[in-house]
Amino acid sequence: MENRRKSAEGPLKVCLVVSAIGVVILAGFVLCVLRGVKHVDTYECPVCRLKQRQERYLGIPSQVRFETNAFSEWYAKHDQTHIHTWLPRASTAYNCFGAVRYVADFTQHRFFSIDPADELGFLKDHFSLEEVKVIAKNLQRDRPAEGLYFAIYSEGTNAGVSLDALRSWLRTNAMGSDRNE
Ligand SMILES: [Zn+2]
Repeated sequence: MENRRKSAEGPLKVCLVVSAIGVVILAGFVLCVLRGVKHVDTYECPVCRLKQRQERYLGIPSQVRFETNAFSEWYAKHDQTHIHTWLPRASTAYNCFGAVRYVADFTQHRFFSIDPADELGFLKDHFSLEEVKVIAKNLQRDRPAEGLYFAIYSEGTNAGVSLDALRSWLRTNAMGSDRNE
Protein backbone atom coordinates (compact mmCIF):
# COMPACT_ATOMS: atom_id res chain seq x y z
CA MET A 1 0.00 0.00 0.00
CA GLU A 2 2.80 2.37 1.06
CA ASN A 3 4.83 1.44 -2.00
CA ARG A 4 1.90 2.08 -4.33
CA ARG A 5 1.40 5.62 -2.87
CA LYS A 6 5.12 6.41 -3.29
CA SER A 7 5.11 5.23 -6.89
CA ALA A 8 2.09 7.50 -7.62
CA GLU A 9 3.81 10.59 -6.09
CA GLY A 10 6.72 10.43 -8.57
CA PRO A 11 4.71 11.13 -11.76
CA LEU A 12 2.62 13.72 -9.86
CA LYS A 13 5.75 15.72 -8.92
CA VAL A 14 7.04 15.57 -12.50
CA CYS A 15 3.66 16.76 -13.73
CA LEU A 16 3.69 19.73 -11.29
CA VAL A 17 7.24 20.75 -12.27
CA VAL A 18 6.41 20.56 -15.99
CA SER A 19 3.25 22.64 -15.41
CA ALA A 20 5.21 25.28 -13.45
CA ILE A 21 7.82 25.53 -16.22
CA GLY A 22 5.00 25.84 -18.77
CA VAL A 23 3.37 28.68 -16.80
CA VAL A 24 6.71 30.54 -16.51
CA ILE A 25 7.39 30.16 -20.26
CA LEU A 26 3.85 31.29 -21.14
CA ALA A 27 4.07 34.33 -18.79
CA GLY A 28 7.47 35.26 -20.30
CA PHE A 29 6.07 34.97 -23.82
CA VAL A 30 3.01 37.11 -22.99
CA LEU A 31 5.20 39.78 -21.33
CA CYS A 32 7.60 39.70 -24.28
CA VAL A 33 4.70 40.33 -26.70
CA LEU A 34 2.78 42.90 -24.63
CA ARG A 35 5.60 44.89 -23.03
CA GLY A 36 8.29 47.14 -24.55
CA VAL A 37 11.52 45.17 -24.59
CA LYS A 38 13.55 47.66 -26.63
CA HIS A 39 13.24 51.45 -26.20
CA VAL A 40 14.62 54.01 -28.61
CA ASP A 41 14.74 57.60 -27.32
CA THR A 42 15.69 60.48 -29.59
CA TYR A 43 16.83 63.91 -28.40
CA GLU A 44 17.74 67.01 -30.39
CA CYS A 45 19.77 70.09 -29.54
CA PRO A 46 17.80 73.14 -30.78
CA VAL A 47 20.98 75.19 -31.12
CA CYS A 48 23.19 73.02 -33.33
CA ARG A 49 20.47 70.52 -34.43
CA LEU A 50 22.59 67.50 -33.48
CA LYS A 51 20.48 64.41 -32.71
CA GLN A 52 21.17 61.83 -30.04
CA ARG A 53 19.66 58.35 -30.25
CA GLN A 54 19.67 56.15 -27.16
CA GLU A 55 18.71 52.49 -27.13
CA ARG A 56 17.70 50.52 -24.02
CA TYR A 57 16.97 46.84 -23.66
CA LEU A 58 14.76 45.97 -20.63
CA GLY A 59 15.67 49.40 -19.25
CA ILE A 60 19.43 48.87 -19.55
CA PRO A 61 21.17 51.49 -21.78
CA SER A 62 22.94 49.69 -24.60
CA GLN A 63 23.88 52.22 -27.27
CA VAL A 64 24.14 55.99 -27.76
CA ARG A 65 24.56 57.33 -31.28
CA PHE A 66 24.91 60.92 -32.48
CA GLU A 67 23.40 61.83 -35.83
CA THR A 68 25.01 64.81 -37.50
CA ASN A 69 23.61 66.89 -40.36
CA ALA A 70 24.69 69.84 -42.50
CA PHE A 71 23.78 72.40 -39.82
CA SER A 72 25.32 70.54 -36.85
CA GLU A 73 28.61 70.03 -38.71
CA TRP A 74 28.75 73.70 -39.73
CA TYR A 75 27.80 74.90 -36.23
CA ALA A 76 30.42 72.74 -34.50
CA LYS A 77 33.13 74.48 -36.53
CA HIS A 78 31.93 77.97 -35.59
CA ASP A 79 31.01 77.58 -31.90
CA GLN A 80 33.40 75.15 -30.24
CA THR A 81 32.37 76.11 -26.68
CA HIS A 82 28.72 75.20 -27.31
CA ILE A 83 27.09 72.94 -24.68
CA HIS A 84 24.18 70.90 -26.03
CA THR A 85 20.62 71.30 -24.73
CA TRP A 86 18.94 67.93 -25.20
CA LEU A 87 15.19 68.19 -25.83
CA PRO A 88 13.24 64.91 -26.04
CA ARG A 89 11.94 64.44 -29.56
CA ALA A 90 10.64 60.86 -29.70
CA SER A 91 10.47 57.70 -27.61
CA THR A 92 9.32 54.40 -29.01
CA ALA A 93 9.04 50.99 -27.36
CA TYR A 94 9.18 47.72 -29.33
CA ASN A 95 8.23 44.20 -28.22
CA CYS A 96 10.47 41.18 -28.84
CA PHE A 97 9.12 40.82 -32.40
CA GLY A 98 9.98 44.44 -33.27
CA ALA A 99 6.35 45.63 -33.25
CA VAL A 100 5.76 49.12 -31.82
CA ARG A 101 4.14 48.95 -28.36
CA TYR A 102 3.87 52.69 -27.70
CA VAL A 103 5.12 56.09 -28.84
CA ALA A 104 5.59 58.81 -26.19
CA ASP A 105 3.93 62.15 -26.78
CA PHE A 106 6.44 65.00 -26.21
CA THR A 107 6.08 68.76 -26.62
CA GLN A 108 6.39 69.55 -30.30
CA HIS A 109 8.61 72.50 -31.15
CA ARG A 110 8.31 74.53 -34.33
CA PHE A 111 11.99 74.06 -35.15
CA PHE A 112 11.40 70.29 -35.48
CA SER A 113 9.66 71.17 -38.77
CA ILE A 114 12.69 73.01 -40.14
CA ASP A 115 15.11 70.85 -42.08
CA PRO A 116 18.67 71.51 -40.76
CA ALA A 117 20.04 71.80 -44.33
CA ASP A 118 17.34 74.39 -45.20
CA GLU A 119 18.15 76.26 -41.99
CA LEU A 120 21.85 76.39 -42.84
CA GLY A 121 21.34 77.55 -46.42
CA PHE A 122 18.81 80.22 -45.49
CA LEU A 123 20.65 81.65 -42.48
CA LYS A 124 24.01 81.80 -44.31
CA ASP A 125 22.33 83.64 -47.20
CA HIS A 126 20.63 86.29 -45.06
CA PHE A 127 22.56 86.73 -41.80
CA SER A 128 26.07 87.20 -40.44
CA LEU A 129 27.76 84.47 -38.41
CA GLU A 130 27.00 86.27 -35.14
CA GLU A 131 23.35 86.75 -36.14
CA VAL A 132 23.06 83.05 -37.05
CA LYS A 133 24.38 82.16 -33.59
CA VAL A 134 21.79 84.43 -31.91
CA ILE A 135 18.94 82.83 -33.86
CA ALA A 136 20.29 79.29 -33.24
CA LYS A 137 20.66 79.87 -29.50
CA ASN A 138 17.03 81.01 -29.30
CA LEU A 139 15.48 78.53 -31.71
CA GLN A 140 13.60 76.57 -29.04
CA ARG A 141 11.64 79.75 -28.31
CA ASP A 142 8.50 80.37 -30.35
CA ARG A 143 9.18 83.78 -31.94
CA PRO A 144 12.42 83.16 -33.85
CA ALA A 145 11.44 79.57 -34.70
CA GLU A 146 8.07 80.60 -36.09
CA GLY A 147 9.63 83.53 -38.00
CA LEU A 148 12.41 81.35 -39.39
CA TYR A 149 10.00 78.62 -40.44
CA PHE A 150 7.77 81.01 -42.41
CA ALA A 151 10.74 82.93 -43.85
CA ILE A 152 12.19 79.68 -45.24
CA TYR A 153 9.03 77.95 -46.41
CA SER A 154 6.64 80.78 -47.39
CA GLU A 155 6.57 82.11 -50.92
CA GLY A 156 6.47 85.61 -52.42
CA THR A 157 5.64 88.55 -50.18
CA ASN A 158 4.86 86.30 -47.20
CA ALA A 159 8.49 85.13 -47.21
CA GLY A 160 9.66 88.78 -47.29
CA VAL A 161 7.35 89.77 -44.43
CA SER A 162 8.56 86.81 -42.34
CA LEU A 163 12.22 87.66 -43.05
CA ASP A 164 11.60 91.29 -41.96
CA ALA A 165 9.88 90.05 -38.78
CA LEU A 166 12.88 87.82 -38.05
CA ARG A 167 15.29 90.73 -38.59
CA SER A 168 13.16 92.89 -36.30
CA TRP A 169 13.19 90.16 -33.63
CA LEU A 170 16.98 89.93 -34.02
CA ARG A 171 17.44 93.69 -33.45
CA THR A 172 15.55 93.58 -30.15
CA ASN A 173 16.99 90.28 -28.94
CA ALA A 174 20.63 90.40 -30.03
CA MET A 175 21.79 91.60 -26.59
CA GLY A 176 20.10 88.72 -24.73
CA SER A 177 21.27 86.04 -27.10
CA ASP A 178 22.54 83.59 -24.48
CA ARG A 179 19.20 83.13 -22.82
CA ASN A 180 18.06 79.57 -22.91
CA GLU A 181 14.45 79.31 -21.79
ZN1 LIG B 1 24.08 71.51 -29.65
